[in-house]
Amino acid sequence: MSKDLHLETKIAQALGWIDESTRAVIPAIHPATTFVRDHDGSNQDPFVYSRNDNPNYGQVEQTLSALEGGQDAMVLSAGMAAAVLPFMTLQAGDHVVIQDVLYWGVRGWVTKHCARFGIDLDFFPAQDPSQIAGLLRPGKTKMVWIESPANPSWEVVDITAVASIAHDAGARLVVDSTAATPILTQPIALGADLVMHAATKYLNGHSDVLAGALITADASSDWWQEMRANRAAMGLVLGPQECWLLLRGMRTLALRVRQSSANAQALAEHFSGHPQLHAVLYPGLPQHPGHAIARRQMQNGFGGMLSIRLHGGFEAAAKTARRTKIFKEATSFGGVESLIEHRAPIEGPETKVPADLIRLSVGIEHIDDLITDLDAALTSV
Ligand SMILES: *Cc1c(COP(=O)(O)O)cnc(C)c1O
Repeated sequence: MSKDLHLETKIAQALGWIDESTRAVIPAIHPATTFVRDHDGSNQDPFVYSRNDNPNYGQVEQTLSALEGGQDAMVLSAGMAAAVLPFMTLQAGDHVVIQDVLYWGVRGWVTKHCARFGIDLDFFPAQDPSQIAGLLRPGKTKMVWIESPANPSWEVVDITAVASIAHDAGARLVVDSTAATPILTQPIALGADLVMHAATKYLNGHSDVLAGALITADASSDWWQEMRANRAAMGLVLGPQECWLLLRGMRTLALRVRQSSANAQALAEHFSGHPQLHAVLYPGLPQHPGHAIARRQMQNGFGGMLSIRLHGGFEAAAKTARRTKIFKEATSFGGVESLIEHRAPIEGPETKVPADLIRLSVGIEHIDDLITDLDAALTSV
C-alpha cells in the first residue's frame, strides 16, 4: 500500500493485505507452534517455531510500523512486556532518566528492576522536562523514558524538545504513546527512537485482548535486534488468536479514537467549573498546563482520557465512582465502553495521585448520556 495514503485508509485495510492462497480479505489464524523444514533442512524464513515468529504477527507489525512511521515493530504479550524489553538491554552502571508521572505499573517495576541490577534511575518532573538536561550523564545515560499524555493527570511532554536533549547526550528516547495512539501523535516523526504501546488499550479497543507493541525508528540497530532476541528468549510473544483479534480491533482505531476524543473534549468543557470539582485535567482545555504543546504535537483531538478532582476529597471521589451507571467502575482504559476509576486506592499508600482524583476513560457512547450519568453521580454525593 502506498506510503502516501492517509492513516485512516492504511489502518482500515491493515495495509490492504490479502491472503494470496485464498484471496481472503482477512487473515487466517495460524495456531501452529512449529513449521516443517524443506528437504535441505532450511525453514521458510522466518517461521521455525512460534516463540520466535508466527504468520499472524507480520500484518499487525507492518501496520503498526506504517502508522507510527517506524522501520519495524514487535507485538508482545502485554504492554508491560513491551515496557520491560528496553530495560532488559541495560547493564549495571547504566543510567536512565524517566518521568515522575507515568503509568504506575511501569514506574513500580522499573524502580525495583533498576535497584536490583545496579542501574541508576533519575526522575524528572513531567511538567518541567527542561530539568532533564541537568540529569543526563553523557556516556552513561542510555535511555530517556517519557509517557504522553501521562497517566493520570494527562501531562503532555514535548517530544521534540526531549528528543533533542536526549540525543545531545547520546541517550535514546522511548515514548509510551498508549494514551495518544498514532492517530493523535507520531513520536518517531518528532525524534523518538522507540514507541511503546499497551495495545490492550486503544489499539485493540474492546477490552478483550492483553497485548503490547514496540515500534522502532531504526530496525538495523543492535538494540532492536537484542530486544527481538529477548522477546523470543523470554517468550513474551502474543498468541495467534489474540494477534488476530488485535488486528480486527485496530481496523477501527481511527474512528474510535476520534469519537472518544470528541466525547472527552465535550465532557471536559461541560464539567470545568462544575461546583463539585476543583479541577478538570484534560489536554484539550486551554487552562491545562500541556495545552500549548498538545496543540503542536497532537492531531485529530486530545485523547479519550481525562481526570477530575473533587472538592469533597477521598470520600466524595470514592462515592462518585460507585454511583455512575453508564461509566463502569473498572480499571484499564481505551475500550469503546466508558470506565470510571478512583485512582489513589488502586495505587496504594505510596501513590502520588491526589486522593480526590477520578480517572475517566471516555468511550464512544452518546455524549448526552455520559454527561447526564456523571452529573447525576456528582450531584448525589
Ligand atoms: C496499561 C498500560 C501499560 C501496561 O499495559 P498492560 O497491557 O496492562 O501490560 C503500560 N503503559 C501504559 C500507559 C498503560 O496504560
